[in-house]
Amino acid sequence: PIFHATILTLYPEMFPGPLGHSLAGRALREERWACDAVQLRDFATDRHRSVDDTPAGGGAGMVLRADVMAAAVDAVADEGRPVLAMTPRGRPLNQERVRNLAAGPGVTILCGRFEGFDERLFEARDIEQVSIGDYVLSGGEMGALVLLDACVRLLPGVMGAASSGDEESFESGLLEYPQYTRPAMWEGRTIPEVLRSGDHAKIAAWRHARACDDTRSRRPDLWERHEGARVGRPLARG
Ligand code: SAM
Repeated sequence: PIFHATILTLYPEMFPGPLGHSLAGRALREERWACDAVQLRDFATDRHRSVDDTPAGGGAGMVLRADVMAAAVDAVADEGRPVLAMTPRGRPLNQERVRNLAAGPGVTILCGRFEGFDERLFEARDIEQVSIGDYVLSGGEMGALVLLDACVRLLPGVMGAASSGDEESFESGLLEYPQYTRPAMWEGRTIPEVLRSGDHAKIAAWRHARACDDTRSRRPDLWERHEGARVGRPLARG
């Protein structure tokens, strides 16, 4: 039972792309995950193989047809594997959702292009709308690659034992503490003394304090949620 990704796209040649290299590429060759990209045009019904049409109500660009998208989704549908559609209108992806997806049997990802999807697709099918951030890409393929990269590195046997990922940014609700390595002196700058002390308790305390400080200053949104959860817990129990 390996993690199986099916990508529905107008550009199947974009997969596995960068995921054929490095950590994810090795995991692919080791069959820890599988990736098949399916051409959306194969589900068109006219002789021009069209997947899009002009927007109802007017305006620029083209809209992906609900009937063609639904036919593609239905053809690859697989019990237990959620269907995700890439769209800036979706729920922003986060590490918690990535962890949940990585723990499951895989994903089917529908990649948009042009002005996106006919909204009726989401009324008629159980499809989770996912955004990878508050900016606009030209297509969903990069978003699918981002989501898959985040999932694949969490699969069993993919990351070395050295990096369990537990302390990483977002896993604790905080940004990770800053990292340093040799040389001990570079351009007149030293490594924080505590990291060279060998005192593991002191190091852990320093790292936690830096994670808190940096999250508070760089990501007040994350900090607020973290603090809310912390002070909220006793109340929820009580
Ligand atoms: N007109 C759409 C809107 O403003 O919501 C944007 C369409 S965008 C040019 C084309 C496709 O790129 C989308 O259908 C989606 O698949 C993908 N895309 C763009 N930005 C994205 C984001 N932030 N997250 C996920 N997918 C995105």
